[in-house]
Amino acid sequence: MLEPRKFKEAIKYEGRVSRRLFLAYNAALASLPLLQRAAWSESRPVYRNDPFSLGVASGDPDPQSVVLWTRLAPMPLEPDGGMPGHAVKVRWEIADDESFGRVVHQGETVATPQLGHSVHVTVNGLEPDRWYWYRFSSGDAVSPIGRTRTLPAVEQLPDRLKFAVTSCQNFEQGLFTAYQQMARDGVDLVFHLGDYIYEYEAGRNGKVRTHLGKEIKSLGDYRVRHAQYRSDQDLAKMHATCPWFVTWDDHEFDNNYANDISEENGISPQEFLTRRANAYQAYYEMMPLRISSMPRGPHLQLYRKSAFGRLADFFVLDTRQYRTDQPNNDGRRELNDSAMDAANSLLGQRQKNWLKRSLLQSQSTWNVLAQQVMMGMVGYTKGVDEPRYHSMDQWPGYTAERMEMMRFMADRRVSNPVVLTGDIHSNWANELRIDDRKPETDTVGVEFVATSLSSGGNGSQRATDHDRLLATNPCVKFHNRERGYLLCEVDQAVWSTDYKVIDDVLKPGGKTFSRAKYIVESGQASIQSS
Ligand code: FE
Ligand code: CA
Repeated sequence: MLEPRKFKEAIKYEGRVSRRLFLAYNAALASLPLLQRAAWSESRPVYRNDPFSLGVASGDPDPQSVVLWTRLAPMPLEPDGGMPGHAVKVRWEIADDESFGRVVHQGETVATPQLGHSVHVTVNGLEPDRWYWYRFSSGDAVSPIGRTRTLPAVEQLPDRLKFAVTSCQNFEQGLFTAYQQMARDGVDLVFHLGDYIYEYEAGRNGKVRTHLGKEIKSLGDYRVRHAQYRSDQDLAKMHATCPWFVTWDDHEFDNNYANDISEENGISPQEFLTRRANAYQAYYEMMPLRISSMPRGPHLQLYRKSAFGRLADFFVLDTRQYRTDQPNNDGRRELNDSAMDAANSLLGQRQKNWLKRSLLQSQSTWNVLAQQVMMGMVGYTKGVDEPRYHSMDQWPGYTAERMEMMRFMADRRVSNPVVLTGDIHSNWANELRIDDRKPETDTVGVEFVATSLSSGGNGSQRATDHDRLLATNPCVKFHNRERGYLLCEVDQAVWSTDYKVIDDVLKPGGKTFSRAKYIVESGQASIQSS
């Protein structure tokens, strides 16, 4: 092994894989065909328990293709899923109809122990803008049926799009009941903006149910934690309802991490990056991601873009993997020199360049940043005349870069920027300016922040500091702290965001309903109550 400092340097260079890791990775891949051949000679696998206990999922559709996902795990809460240490064959089929009378494509793939017996099939040659049904089989076992769809052709002008935005689903703090209503909402897509799992030890947040084991660190730990979450039937069923675009925040790995820097002291970079590799691999294994997101050591390419015809372009960001350390690591601060430092970056240079390039290429009416942490420069204060402080883990800790991006979108006249955000466990509707502290200046875009699905347990409709928050932050048009998700409906003229909230996440049977609805008219960059 390299000594820790050299190891860190060898793999630190943003988004680039060191030659050494790259060679190791290729060596691992090169061994796969042999394993596959060995698998073909295996007898038909015989399962004592259902190997499709984790359900099915689909994701990252484009006009011609979609990723179909499953993971074989007859014993889902075991680190190896109860699977043998060799590869097995999995068949897949995708059909025009729910009864599979008209199968349009089918094939065979292998699930390998190296990737936790997960399956990621990219099905090509599909028709644009339509629904399909898919399923898997292995041995005598057949998976549940999933429903998925392709996106409209890039030149098409679709009438409308309906999608949900969700984030922050702490298993211990609440039930995922709200997904039952989301499944009835008739959405085309789901965006999950991070904190899909929480890494904490059992009982730390225990209210309604309990994590298994200690704080997760090994690959097996992360696999079991993901499997425990996906064993939730409301979550599994929502994955089978429509394709998802997922991105992560911090808890898929470790609370408030920045790149290769732990929030806790005394962890060697080597140890921390080894853990990051475990977290990223388990994430890839469990998510319907394209093969371009296959992890390479502690690196995983997650930022990407997608277009729903010429109605909306989506830029799915990764504000964790490449960021510089949070200024003032002890938590929140006002916007001092350290927060304004131009060297602070949430995106990293490469992702920022890609985002700017992509925004300029967009032909769409709406340009959506689907990302993690709040962009609105919300300041908190203990009293109206007290000093304001800001979260240094969110965009205000990276104010120079935030202003640079807002200025770029204003100067280059990016059409209708809309930011979608998770992380903060509360609902917000914010108007965004280059500097939100100057309400007399023009707005550039809007931000809709989705509350947590379950994290924090039952919240409150009206925060105790609600009036002060709105009085001291003119950019904020709506705020509450209930649980739920966003339901967005978009056409060429109007964007609408419905704040769906649930009355109780601590008991089964919670009721999900619309708390508030806000709209944006194309070309306005202002938020109106609907
Ligand atoms: Fe969270
Ligand atoms: Ca978070």
